[in-house]
Amino acid sequence: MLRWAVVRKLLIVALSAALVAAIVVPGYKIEKQQQTQQTCRRRLEQIVKAQERYFAQHGKYASELTELIGDSLNFTCPQNDSPFVLQAADSLHYKVSCPNGHGWVSNETASWKLEE
Ligand SMILES: [Zn+2]
Repeated sequence: MLRWAVVRKLLIVALSAALVAAIVVPGYKIEKQQQTQQTCRRRLEQIVKAQERYFAQHGKYASELTELIGDSLNFTCPQNDSPFVLQAADSLHYKVSCPNGHGWVSNETASWKLEE
């Protein structure tokens, strides 16, 4: 009888731990995803600034990301280091997007500013 009581207590402790983990782990994952998205969007915003500098010098936007110069420039998504995609319609319009769906920026706006 005593052994059954011990087993029952252990079972309750184990179930409680599993319950707490089930609540905490998804929250942690969501927070981590949000941080990755913020970092990704910050990188895209740095590209916009670099494009503006490039435009001021050359009178057109860069058609290749490698033409852009800047200390804080990073042309990959922090989620898996896959490269951003630059679409240059012409020398006055461009769009840079994250391949993982974190958003895109153009010479006119950023996708997440449209959501607000
Ligand atoms: Zn991204």
